[in-house]
Formats: sequence, C-alpha cells, structure tokens
Amino acid sequence: MTDGTSTRYVFITGGVVSSLGKGLASAALAAVLQARGYRVRLRKLDPYLNVDPGTMSPTQHGEVFVTDDGAETDLDLGHYERFTGLPATRADNITTGRIYQDIIAKERRGDYLGATIQVIPHVTNAIKAFVLDGNDAFDFVLVEIGGTVGDIEGLPFFEAIRQLGQEMPRGATLFMHLTLLPYIPSAGELKTKPTQHSVKELRSIGIQPDILLCRCDRPIPEEERRKLGLFCNVRESAVIEARDVDSIYDVPLSYRAAGLDREVLAHFGIAPEEEPRLDKWRTISERVRNPEGEVSIAIVGKYTGLKDAYKSLSEALTHGGIANRVRVNLEWIESEVFEREDPAPFLEGIHGILVPGGFGQRGAEGKIRAARYARERRIPYFGICFGMQMAVIEAARSLAGIDAANSTEFGETREPVVGLLTEWLKGNELERRAQAGDLGGTMRLGAYGATLREGTRIAEIYGDTEISERHRHRYEVNMAYRERLEAAGLCFSGTSPDGLLPETVEHVGHPWFIGVQFHPELKSRPFEPHPLFRSFVAAAIEQSRLV
Ligand code: GLN
Repeated sequence: MTDGTSTRYVFITGGVVSSLGKGLASAALAAVLQARGYRVRLRKLDPYLNVDPGTMSPTQHGEVFVTDDGAETDLDLGHYERFTGLPATRADNITTGRIYQDIIAKERRGDYLGATIQVIPHVTNAIKAFVLDGNDAFDFVLVEIGGTVGDIEGLPFFEAIRQLGQEMPRGATLFMHLTLLPYIPSAGELKTKPTQHSVKELRSIGIQPDILLCRCDRPIPEEERRKLGLFCNVRESAVIEARDVDSIYDVPLSYRAAGLDREVLAHFGIAPEEEPRLDKWRTISERVRNPEGEVSIAIVGKYTGLKDAYKSLSEALTHGGIANRVRVNLEWIESEVFEREDPAPFLEGIHGILVPGGFGQRGAEGKIRAARYARERRIPYFGICFGMQMAVIEAARSLAGIDAANSTEFGETREPVVGLLTEWLKGNELERRAQAGDLGGTMRLGAYGATLREGTRIAEIYGDTEISERHRHRYEVNMAYRERLEAAGLCFSGTSPDGLLPETVEHVGHPWFIGVQFHPELKSRPFEPHPLFRSFVAAAIEQSRLV
C-alpha cells in the first residue's frame, strides 16, 4: 500500500541513558508500519571510530551481526531482521570509522581538489549521502543514531540529520526521541526532568523532536504528560508511553496500543483508514505468554557475562520455544569452569547443551568437555561454529584415537583437525586470506551455500539438501581427517557445494548431536523459527521426558 508520494524519514535518537532499547524501538515501529502495508527500511548510524564492530569485544559491544552480503554489523540489525523479516545488508549500517576511511582515501587520491577537509561539510555530506542512498523503493526509512544525545562523537551525525530536516521537502522527516522517565520511590513519581534536559540538549543542536517515546515502568499520569508536552515543546498526543513489557515481541502491540504508529502517520499527514494487521504478533505474544511446558538449555560459552554477546542465539532459542510451545530457560555457563570442575553437577536437569561461536583458546578445553559430556550422556548437543569445531576435536580425541587433535587457532599442533584455510571458493571466485593479515574483515563472512547428504538427520530437519547460511570464521575442520572421523562415527553430513569444506557434522546414533560451521541463529525469526532451533528444542523436550 503506497500512496505514490516520496519516501519519508524517521530519525530515532536516544537521550538520558544508554541501553534504552533504541534498536528494538526502531524495529518494533517498523513492524507496525509494515503491518499497515508500508514498505519499510531500517538503517543504523554508529558514531564510534571502529570501521565495523567486527574487531570489537562481544563483552563490550555485544554480538556482531553478520548480513547475507558478508558485513559485520551492529547487533541492532539483528532486531531489525527479526521484527521485519527483511534481510539487512552491508548498506544498512555505517560507522564514523568507515566514513573517515572513505573520506581519507578520497583525500589521498586528490579527489577534493585542494580543499580543506572538514567535519562540516565533508563528514556531514558523507553521512547524508549514506542516509539518502538507495531508498526509492521504500515508503518509510527509519534511521537510528547510535549513542546518546550529547556524546561528542555523535555530533556530526546529529548535525547531518538536522540538515536533512531542512533540506528535504516539508513533512518528509520526523524526529523521534527515546528517553527514560525514572520512577523515584521516595517521591512516588515518574520524573520528567531528565527528559526535559535531554530535549534541551537536542534543541541546542537544532533538533526539535516531534515525538517523545518515553520508557517507563508504569503509566504516565496526565500531569506529567502535560509537563513533557509543555517543556519539551511537543504535542501531548506525541508523548508516547513505552512501558516495560515481559517479552520484546510484545513491543509492536504495545506501541500500537500507545498510539505510536497513529502519531507517526499523523505527523506525515496520513489518516489511516484501516487497523494494522498485527495477528502474527498476537500469536507470538500469546505463545510466549502461555507456554505448555519448559526446557532448560545450557549455553557453554566464553562471553556469558554480557547476554547481548549472544543476542541472536538467545532469540533463536526463544523462537524454537515458540515453535514447540515451551518456555526455554537458558543457563549460562562459563566454559572455563569445566576445565577445573566436573561438569555433571552443573548440567543436572539440563535438557540440551549448546556451545556457541567463539574465538581463542581460553575456555576451549571446557567446551570440548561439554561436547564429550553431551555425547556420552546422550544429551542433545548443538555446536555452532566454534562449538562444531570443538565437538570435532572431541570426537577425534575420544573416538578416533587422535590424542593430540587440536585447532591451529591455539598455536602449532601435530594434529590440525581444525586448521586455517588460506583460500576457498565463493560462487566461482577464489577468495584468499593471508596467514598473518589484518584481523578486521578477513574472515569467511556472509551467506554460503551448503549441500546436505541425503538421509542424514540434518537433511531431514531442513527438509532440503541445498541450504544457505551465514558464516563468520577463519578456521575450518580439516577434510584430511574426514575418513578417520567418519569411521569413528562422526558423519560429515553437509559440505560446501564443491565438497571441499565441511559445513555440518552429526554423531550417528545419538539422539541429537549436530555441529554446524555457520550461524543459523542469525536467520531465525519469531514468526519463522529456524528449523535447527525448532528441532533442537523438540529434542530437549524429549530429553526432559527422560530425566
Ligand atoms: N574461532 C573460530 C574460527 O575463527 C570460530 C569462529 C566462530 O565461532 N564464529 O574459525
């Protein structure tokens, strides 16, 4: 349903404190607009200096989300995909680092013809060009600005969107500001002052918000709403309550109930005739709210201190639960613990063990131990990327008698069961990575096809033998060991289409033991749970009936 006029832009900024869930707010608003039949695009501007988040620690910045076209991006793009079902691309996320990299490359080439290169206009122009590029097919483009208003590194981005507000036709842009109304128990009130200050900050750089989206833990009383409208210079109807909800998948419904989409459309002069079609969100919400049972999955990893480090993974498990009508309880376990202690007491009452992606030696032996425990005790095991590599090393050591089996990621080894490949095929092109090159952007990244062997467990789960999944790794299981490992009972159930790279493995005869070299969690959606997560949770339900 397009009304023929040009694309409209919604700029989403944040104030008061970080971590208010701007990404989720943007994604949920997109979902509601989509439910009204609009074509929506989401993009993220990140003010930090890294060229991309690929080299950032997951414990600081959370997960690195990989797109089909192989970009390492901000985890908010994961929210965008999960809420809209639309695959994000490299062109949906940009950082200060990337912008400067491009500008400096141009400057060195002499493209600026002797000009002095400055933040205004060169950096702001580059930001504006990025924001405006490639949007013809969309009714709404939602642009989220990372960080909080007032951050020094955010200034060029705020300046760029301010300029866009002036340069675009009247009524083509909307500024939405996400803030926090903290409840102060001693006063018994929701406080509006932090929001007033945040809006003051925003106005001092020339941006007047059109909508305030206010995070709060209780309803906003009339008086506070009036105050916010008055002091922040917005309509009272544009003060939107964003109440805490139990499940993130309730957010589209709660925005709808709070009137956010109506206010957005009203700003653009659109009077909707119909209600948005939110049935699928109602179904998801209902299923999350009323599970018919529960299972416990242990995630044995290295970055368990920050849940955002495994965002897509925990969401994909939730989706697996939605598909099976159960609640999935996640037990986060630092794998290093298993290097010192017996895993048994930790894994009692656990119905499935998942070893996720990871990098580096720390905790690796603990993951190998978790894989062994799952194999021997016949507990469902799901190894993702690093988790597959560790499971293969475990099988090599315990079943194929290759005692020194290891990964070259941890240093020289006599038995490189997992090793660095320096070239591989993507489509028809040969790609190469240097042994000692940069760490940034040098991995096998993005979507690759894989062929699954007919009759294997994984082929049955996918219901297909040709699949495509996203990758992010430097190392691969070494095919030179394939025969010995298969003889020992570890089936190489999937390979790259040319048969050269192992993509999936499974233990024959085990109730559910699957390793995948890719990251299936990146493609799971609440309304379209990934088959592997659906099946893994189903296996955990079976397991829960045994114990
Ligand atoms: N560290 C391993 C590699 O580079 C696994 C990476 C991952 O789990 N994403 O191959």
